Amino acid sequence: MAQTTIEQFATELKMPAGILLEQLGKAGVDGKKEGDKLSEHDKTKLLEYLQKQHGAAGEPKKKITLTRKQTTEIKAAGSTGKARTIQVEVRKKRVFVKRDEGEAPPVEEAPKVVAPVITAEELAAREAEEKKGRELAARQQEDLQKKQEQAVKRKTKKEREAEEAAAKAAEEAAAAEAAKAAEAAKAAETAKAATPAAKATEGTLHRPAAKPGEKPKPVRKSGSGFQEEAARRRALKLRGDVTGGTAAAGWRQPKVGHRRHDEEGGAEGAAPAQAGPQVREVSIPETITVADLAHKMSVKAAELIKVLMKLGQMVTINQVLDQETAMILVEEMGHKAKPAKLDDPDALLAESESTAAAEALPRPPVVTVMGHVDHGKTSLLDMIRRTRVASGEAGGITQHIGAYHVETAKGVITFLDTPGHEAFTAMRARGAKVTDIVVLVVAADDGVMPQTKEAVAHAKAGNVPIVVAMNKIDKPEANPERVKQELVAEGVIPEEYGGEVQFIPVSAKTGAGIDTLLDAILLQAEVLELKAPKDSPARGIVIESRLDKGKGPVATVLVNSGTLKRGDILLAGAVFGRVRAMTDENGKNVTTAGPAIPVEIQGLSDVPLAGEDVMVLGDERKAREIALFRQGKFRDVKLARQQAAKLENMFDQMAEDAVKSLALIVKADVQGSYEALSQALTKLSTAEVKVNIVHAAVGGITESDINLALASKAVVIGFNVRADVAARKLAENSGVDIRYYNIIYDAVDEVKAALSGMLTPEKKETQTGLVEVREVYKISKVGTVAGCYVQDGVIKRGSRVRVLRDNVVVHDGELDSLKRFKDDVREVKGGFECGLSIKNWNDVKQGDQLEAYEIVEVSRTL
Ligand code: GDP
Repeated sequence: MAQTTIEQFATELKMPAGILLEQLGKAGVDGKKEGDKLSEHDKTKLLEYLQKQHGAAGEPKKKITLTRKQTTEIKAAGSTGKARTIQVEVRKKRVFVKRDEGEAPPVEEAPKVVAPVITAEELAAREAEEKKGRELAARQQEDLQKKQEQAVKRKTKKEREAEEAAAKAAEEAAAAEAAKAAEAAKAAETAKAATPAAKATEGTLHRPAAKPGEKPKPVRKSGSGFQEEAARRRALKLRGDVTGGTAAAGWRQPKVGHRRHDEEGGAEGAAPAQAGPQVREVSIPETITVADLAHKMSVKAAELIKVLMKLGQMVTINQVLDQETAMILVEEMGHKAKPAKLDDPDALLAESESTAAAEALPRPPVVTVMGHVDHGKTSLLDMIRRTRVASGEAGGITQHIGAYHVETAKGVITFLDTPGHEAFTAMRARGAKVTDIVVLVVAADDGVMPQTKEAVAHAKAGNVPIVVAMNKIDKPEANPERVKQELVAEGVIPEEYGGEVQFIPVSAKTGAGIDTLLDAILLQAEVLELKAPKDSPARGIVIESRLDKGKGPVATVLVNSGTLKRGDILLAGAVFGRVRAMTDENGKNVTTAGPAIPVEIQGLSDVPLAGEDVMVLGDERKAREIALFRQGKFRDVKLARQQAAKLENMFDQMAEDAVKSLALIVKADVQGSYEALSQALTKLSTAEVKVNIVHAAVGGITESDINLALASKAVVIGFNVRADVAARKLAENSGVDIRYYNIIYDAVDEVKAALSGMLTPEKKETQTGLVEVREVYKISKVGTVAGCYVQDGVIKRGSRVRVLRDNVVVHDGELDSLKRFKDDVREVKGGFECGLSIKNWNDVKQGDQLEAYEIVEVSRTL
């Protein structure tokens, strides 16, 4: 054990070395100089001298708690191989209990080791240290035992003398010790446990706390257990202050054990400034585990758990605390708590971006193909894909992942594989901008059609440049000039007319002009100067997602910037995960994907929504935290932002908006009805209000219709058709208004009413359940009976039902009978099977869906 020099000891005691030398001399330790080593023996001598000097309280005490501190040095090679001097402080707390004679000897608490993270060499050194400590402790214990016996014999008179002596001594230069001794005496006395030896020991081994001149106050003696306890705590606290260090927080018991300090840190508690509790500002996320919180406060988890227990909570180390509890806890422990901002992954990303600001490099353009039905969008995409995509190696299966990229001699182009407005508007509806360039396909034999105009409108609304592909030029009746002229009327001006739009004649059938089209796209891309950093964490967008039976959640991600790597931790909207596998459009495994490259990834926790932002985070826990947070709150925020249009409040909205127009999406069962309906509705336009049919088509209402409705703030009209499950869910979640009609005049009347602000539905239809027909039995006399399964909701006897075949209404009527097994029942709930028949209708087929509904009267609310 390295011995302390007199000088060091004096510094530790906060007194001039000269006075210490003088005292040592008086104590019989002669011939010492400042630089000389001070042995344990010398210290004990000094202790005995001081004890005699100051006297001590002599009342027989039952219990005393002592804390001893020893500072030693170890020279050890650190992990870097550099020799370091480590100061080791050994603290011991012992409780001596005075018992009746013949009883067990004083109890010593096993020294606890408060070990910081230490290396193996340090550990070895420390073990040696500890052994010495134990020997020493044993010796001291003997000493103390003897002294304790002496103490029992002391009289109260002596106690007073001690106080006087202490007071006098306090005025002297060596006042520090004296006051300390007196304080200790006071504390010990209250605790009824002090022995003079103990006090003296403390006096020597601890820095004095009292200021010189401060007189110890007499302490009232009390037999009450509570006061005793209070006094004991005060004494402990006093010692805590004296021993200094981080243990000074009020609720903390002085610790027994070792502390390690780097040399620069100096001896523990050497400066009073360091001795105070350090107040940290701790930022608390939505949820935090006990272990993490302890780590943040630099305390041991066990201590946190203790405090939590005091607060009446039993927790484990891995338990997750909510923000409120965590904040109370932090305040309780004397630190400052502040709630952390969690929902701001951009800030997080900005951080990482600022640290690694990668150079922005040119990136491939992302292209969406749009145009009127049957003008050849799909054919064009197929042609490009078939002839230009480097199909995978032998065995590679070309798969649909929602996008693919084409490598040409002049560069790479990425095509979104879903043609038409769907992909474009679905993304736009979610506020994502993916497309850089729109390829507008116009059949040269057909010219500009309604959806061509819509496509132009969409592209312009999204501020995306257009490249026109005049398709079907192989046809003899093709007339590219007409296409140009008609598009000029739409504000799409060809280059030769002084505009900026390239018009390329192509044939998706023969492949003619495809290369020129690709060149034109690349030229347009060059004009746009598309750039993205490559060497940075990836950001991107979900283009498609699905739940695969074997692979779990699968998502196609189009990287916007940076490079996505296998093993990256991703956050995609409210979903997170680690990229387990990554494949390209050919089903080939890839390990990285740069900007504008689409890849299908596996490993997400759930299926993300198409259009969600994807970002790579460094920390899985952070990703999970944000994902969970978003699952709870983000949806509301997003929904709040997307104010969907409602037919009822159309009039009010129009009053607010400068542009007065009513956007409608019409879906019908047959072409004749949507055309008739569209015409009838368009005719409703007046000078003030315009009816704008955004989209009209045959077929059930799909998810993309709802997206279009969201993006263009339109109301969806279903004429004898229904929304499919996904569309219905999306509409419900996003608040898109879907209206079903089976009589054209009803639809026209309602829209008319909406336009004049008169619309107040008096009868409202609510769907109660959805039933799937699984089997059909023809029973003579009874008719057709359908064996069904209730998918959703409930079906009741006498319900009104609509029969849907491929989401098109084929019959509207009433239930005739409803049975479970052989019994008639009043209702059948979701998840159960039932048998039913429909009044006056026997044409039900396997696979049909029955929509049970009720007509509810709604009072006028305007
Ligand atoms: P989409 O509805 O816009 O996706 O159009 P499709 O790609 O389904 O094409 C509609 C029809 O036009 C199909 O029968 C194609 O065979 C035909 N078609 C597409 N491109 C061409 C072309 O360049 N020349 C000819 N002659 N027919 C084409």
